[in-house]
Amino acid sequence: MIPVRDDLRALDGYHSAQVDVEVRLNTNESPFPPPAGFADAVASEISRIDWNRYPDRAALALRTDIADMHGVDPAQVFVANGSNEVLQTVLLAYAGPGRTVATFEPTYQMHAQIARVTGATVVEGERGLDFTLDPAEVDRVLTVHRPHVVFLTSPNNPTGLVEPRERVEQLLASAPGLVVVDEAYAQFSDWSALDMVDESRPLVVTRTFSKTWSMAGARLGYLVGPTWLVAELDKVVLPYHLDAVKQLSGRIALRFADDMNERVALLVSERDRISAGLRALPIDVFDSGANFVLFRPTDVAGGTVWQQLVDRSILVRDCSGWPRLENCLRVTIGTPDENDRFLTAIADILKA
Ligand code: PMP
Repeated sequence: MIPVRDDLRALDGYHSAQVDVEVRLNTNESPFPPPAGFADAVASEISRIDWNRYPDRAALALRTDIADMHGVDPAQVFVANGSNEVLQTVLLAYAGPGRTVATFEPTYQMHAQIARVTGATVVEGERGLDFTLDPAEVDRVLTVHRPHVVFLTSPNNPTGLVEPRERVEQLLASAPGLVVVDEAYAQFSDWSALDMVDESRPLVVTRTFSKTWSMAGARLGYLVGPTWLVAELDKVVLPYHLDAVKQLSGRIALRFADDMNERVALLVSERDRISAGLRALPIDVFDSGANFVLFRPTDVAGGTVWQQLVDRSILVRDCSGWPRLENCLRVTIGTPDENDRFLTAIADILKA
């Protein structure tokens, strides 16, 4: 064995328990496969790929389609293999050794993780008691640490909370560096920071095809930001990082926007049904604007509830060991049948 970089030695990887169960409600994917027409179109158009040639390095057609959907310029769009790679590219360009990255916890663990891997110093601010941004804490973190990059996840993962627009505006007004708003779940909420993006602001908004677009298996994500920033990312990312099949399937998915929007509407109504069902039990439920719900059983330990759900072949995310999330579990919204099974099981567990 040879030693890894000193600063990586203490780093723990990203963990998410995988158990073989019938009902998987633990990783916030879409419970639905893409529409049948999507698979047919991919199958017929795949034969036109020039397999012996590198793909379009700039992924221009895909960028253009995404840009059209959001009413922006293709030069404002950067695409990569999942929004995680988008975030990694941003951090390779704007974080790294000698630079500081700020997060407000609890939030998506990969922001701090990727930042550390680039060699940056991570400052973890704390969210308020209700888990929204606390203006005094934001002020402290920005003034004391002057971070080069600040992350904000809205709706936040794992809490599901949507950050009010005014808080994002305040953050933008006072941040000394780049602000990254991670909108992996924005389609399930009622507002987006996309309309705040413009050439004069150091703001990027990241999105994914993994949830709304039912394409977690394909690994595709993007950001919308100022053109000068996207140009820097294009320098950092590996050449031909986005393969031809993915570019093609991403473009085909966008043709099915109406189907995807219908699914989002169904998942939102199922989310509200799950939240109401949990609220009728001895459980504290956090308001969610995402495709999952964070909750805390009040009378039984979270870890015990998690295990008893697994015993009934239902897997949710166990957040009970995470800082400030004692006893909390996170359930991804599934199909109506899966959600029925979950609600019946948890009522059963808490009654016993
Ligand atoms: N951001 C947030 C907040 C997430 O929850 C996730 C997925 N769990 C991602 C980014 C990464 O998504 P992907 O890489 O699949 O696009």
